[in-house]
Amino acid sequence: MPINRRELMSSAALAGAALALPAGLVAGRAQAAEAGKPAGVFSYKLGDMECLAVNDGVANFPLPDGFVKNASTQEVGAALSRALMDPATMSIPFTAMVVKTGGKTTLIDTGNGPAAGGSRGTLFSNLEAAGIDRGSIDTVVISHFHPDHIGGLTDEMDSKSFANAELVVPEGEVAFWLDDGNLANANEQMKPRFELARKKIGAYKDALRTIGDGAEAAPGVTAHAAHGHTPGHMVFRLASGDRQMMVLSDTTNHPALFVRNPQWQVRFDMDGDMAAQTRVKLLDMVSADDMLVAGYHFPFPATGHIVKDGAGYQLALAAWQPQL
Ligand SMILES: [Zn+2]
Repeated sequence: MPINRRELMSSAALAGAALALPAGLVAGRAQAAEAGKPAGVFSYKLGDMECLAVNDGVANFPLPDGFVKNASTQEVGAALSRALMDPATMSIPFTAMVVKTGGKTTLIDTGNGPAAGGSRGTLFSNLEAAGIDRGSIDTVVISHFHPDHIGGLTDEMDSKSFANAELVVPEGEVAFWLDDGNLANANEQMKPRFELARKKIGAYKDALRTIGDGAEAAPGVTAHAAHGHTPGHMVFRLASGDRQMMVLSDTTNHPALFVRNPQWQVRFDMDGDMAAQTRVKLLDMVSADDMLVAGYHFPFPATGHIVKDGAGYQLALAAWQPQL
């Protein structure tokens, strides 16, 4: 079994503590250090369902020209400033979701993966902090095949990260990313993405289920087509008793830009016009119905409500505090 970075760090901390402390205090010191580290986990109930937002870190990079296809760098910088963000830096957070219901555990999207490095790829350590063994996950549901959503499907050794899980994927994504002709015609920038999708999804070929619009992806999780960001992108409605919520996946990238300005098209939106139409339709629906939502690229805890505000919307984030 490969040792992971977290284990290395905690064994190093233990070794260091062992030199300075009587044996009886070693475990206590190490546990306190672990417990004192605020984990990127936010848990709440939706009816009888237990939901957990589990953070996979953040990507920071200088705001490039053309980050928003139909707004100037100056307009984008001004929108970042209004959200108290550095106008010259784009920070994109990643947060996946775990849903526990009826004795089954489902993970929706898998983060960038342990090889991502930098400030990304914290999903596995945060799952561990939440007491969730990756081997206990029954179903992994994927919203679309971009690397920040499928990267965690395999580990550093290219083995399945979720050894006992069924993998549930959108039919539109399979049709696009796993098509031989599309790979053959892909340009140099896109080719690695097609290859990554083959590798990551291929690892689960014996436990793969492809779903369409309206299908039950997992217990209490219904998939809906929300195309535009990618050809087969999906969102997920969670329902338990009379409670419902919408997992918006990549309907919007950072909310300071794309919830505020739903017509803006991020450079990752593969069909920008269709993505904007889908975004307006979904944001309109969840705000009119006052539905709880989760957004993969919302700041942590990536959970809240969408409120209509002029020509755009606002995100009202749920209150979260680290459990110390
Ligand atoms: Zn994404």
